[in-house]
Formats: sequence, C-alpha cells, structure tokens
Amino acid sequence: MKQRIEKMDLKDKTVIVRCDYNVPIYNGRIIDDTKIVASLETIRYLVKNNCKIIILSHLGKIKKEEDKLYNSLEPVSKRLKELVGREVYFSRKILDPELPKRIELMLPRDILMLENTRFLDVPNKLESNCDAQVSYFFASLADVFVMDAFASSHRAHASVVGITKYIPSCIGFSVERELASLDRFLKEPVHPFTVIMGGAKVEDKLDLIETMLPKCDYLLLAGGLANSFLKALNFNIGSSLATESPKTIEKLKQIMLKYRNKLMLPLDAIVGSTYDEHYTRYKRINEIGDNEVILDVGVKTLEKYKTAIKVSQTIFLNGTMGRYEDNRYSNGTKELFNTLKNADATIVVGGGDSVSAVKNMGFVGDFTYLSVGGGATLEYLTKGHLIGIDSIKEEEIEVLDV
Ligand code: ADP
Ligand code: MG
Repeated sequence: MKQRIEKMDLKDKTVIVRCDYNVPIYNGRIIDDTKIVASLETIRYLVKNNCKIIILSHLGKIKKEEDKLYNSLEPVSKRLKELVGREVYFSRKILDPELPKRIELMLPRDILMLENTRFLDVPNKLESNCDAQVSYFFASLADVFVMDAFASSHRAHASVVGITKYIPSCIGFSVERELASLDRFLKEPVHPFTVIMGGAKVEDKLDLIETMLPKCDYLLLAGGLANSFLKALNFNIGSSLATESPKTIEKLKQIMLKYRNKLMLPLDAIVGSTYDEHYTRYKRINEIGDNEVILDVGVKTLEKYKTAIKVSQTIFLNGTMGRYEDNRYSNGTKELFNTLKNADATIVVGGGDSVSAVKNMGFVGDFTYLSVGGGATLEYLTKGHLIGIDSIKEEEIEVLDV
C-alpha cells in the first residue's frame, strides 16, 4: 500500500491537499456535491490534527481565457464551508508571491482554497505540463502533500505529480478507499465474472477490453463498441457510430476468434435515422437500413444479457447501452440497471457517463461500488497503476523482532 495519511506525522503541520472538486456547476450553482462530500474525511482529519490546510483542485477544461469565467472554484469554497462548518478562505491568485506570508498568518485548522489549478494552463500549460517552478511553488507552501484526487491520478500535472518531488507525500482517505475497493472487487474477482461494456468509441476502450477478456467469463457489448464488432462481422450497421480504422477491425476479428465463447453481441436495436430527427424504430440487428443509426439495445438483447447476469458472482459495468442522454434511447441502460439491481452479485460501475447515468436514473445505492474515477478508473483497471499514485512512496513496513 502507498504511504497512507494515518501513517504521517501531521500534528500542527501545514498540509497541501489535492482534492477532486471537478463538480458540475450550472449558473454558478453546484448541481452535485458528491465529490466535495467525499473529501470531508480527509479535511476533517487534518482539522483534527491541528493542521493549516491548503486546497488545490482543477475544475472543468481551461483551453482559453474565457473558460475561466465559468470555472472558478469559488462556489466550491462556499459549499465546503457549509459542509465542514468552518471558514474556507479563497485565493483568486495562485502563483501569488504574497501567498507564503498569508499562510504564515493562518491559524491552525484554517482552510485556504486556491483558484482552479488549470487556470495556469492559459497560455503556457504550466499545470498540465508539470512545470517545475509551479510544482516547487506549490510544495514550498506546505510541509506535507496529500493526494486525494483519484480522478486526476492518471495525469502527470504539477498539482498531482510535480509537487511530490519536493515534500513528503501520502494518499488521502478517498484515494485509499477507491484503490482498496477496485482491488478488492476486481483484482481477483469471484467467478463467474461478467464485464458489460458499452459507450461510444471502441478505440478508447480497446485496451480495457483486452485486459478484461482473459479475466472474465462473459463480455457483453453495446453502443459504439458493439457496432464496431458487428461491422467486423460484416453486418450492415447503416450509419451507426463505429470504428473507421481497418487496423482496429482486424484487431476485433482476432479478439472474436480467440474469445468467441465469452463475447455477447446485440440481437436487436432501437434505431434513429440520418435524415429525420423524429424517426425511431425497433429493428433486429440483421435488418438495419443504410440510413439508420443504432442508438440503443432492444429487448431481445437485454433478455440474452440477463442469462449471463443471472449466473454471475461479480459484474463490472462500463459504458452505457445506448445514447442515454436522449430519453428515446435511455431504456436499454435503465432496464440493464433494473436487471443488475435484482442480481445476486457484486456489482461495480466505473466511468464518468456510466456513474452519472446510475445517479440520474436513480440507482445509487443499488450497486456494490460506484467508482468515482472516470478515466483514472479505466486506466487503473487496464494498466494496474497510475502515474499520480506511482509518485507517492510505498508505506514502510514495520519489521517485527522475533
Ligand atoms: P464512460 O464515460 O462511463 O466510460 P462512455 O463515455 O464510453 O462511458 O459511454 C457513454 C457515451 O456513449 C454516451 O455519451 C452515449 O451517448 C454514447 N453512446 C452509447 N451508445 C451509443 C451509440 N449506439 N451510438 C452513439 N453513441 C452512443
Ligand atoms: Mg464518457
């Protein structure tokens, strides 16, 4: 296990924490504060230890100056104040030469949040390119660094990896919980183990498919991923989203040859059309017309997938069955969730859209574990490690005298 927060000497120290406060904000209001709530255990632990607390996080994508208008962390500092029940000071400036003095004047247990670290990306990508001076500046503000942003742990950014080069570092409670849960349920899953993968682009998920296939008993496919497999099998998928790369098609053919007994593909679909926005039809998978677009799975597919789900002990789900954002194509995802809810298995859901579909459709609490990591979760499951966690030292194991 990586260096844990509870094994650090933090009493009366100044601690800088990388949180994941990349929350959805609409018209200045936070729509979902799950990520802020998830950080409270670490923040409260630091308060209990009489620390001065400095918080770093990114929010949204900052590509140009205007992006800064809608992605300030200030609303997050206000929500954190309500949740933690203490004042949370906010600094609009990040690389402010006055900051060390301000921190000097803080009292133990005071909390100071700095503005969105990705504001440093315009114009020079200082955060994303892990600029050494920025990393050193962050580190110089504190005695200890706590990495508590699992969803950013696949990024070699200054506030994630850079800072660990200069001060003692450890993982916070939410990172620890995420790693422990993914390891516990998916490292050596109880069999039969079923993986359900949907979503848009097969290229984004190919590595994960290849990692999961040797480990799982069944792989159930949907969305753009399934379309690409069907295309490799020479089905007419009309104008559906699928890979255009001959190399990928070749790879999918090899995968199907090797793992034909594990793979399940859709039997039917709900389709739209390229020329009429209001057109929706039920189609068997061998009846798709040239102008039709597969946008959800049909009932026969769901019935077939249920047979694998029913016998499974462990299930991992990533990607939605269809274009769940559109009500006309959300039924496959919703019905799959209903089937999973009633299944007698350990169920783990990972991926940004998948977890948000679980939340929006009201299934939170029905599954064993919802991984908050998005892309980081998929990378951890694929590669088995993450750059932002690698940069933290292993915990020293106490050697007992015998
Ligand atoms: P996650 O974020 O959980 O890893 P993905 O991003 O891979 O999941 O999958 C969700 C996205 O896939 C959604 O935006 C959804 O609209 C899209 N999608 C699912 N099925 C289809 C389909 N048949 N055609 C086009 N897009 C699809
Ligand atoms: Mg997604």
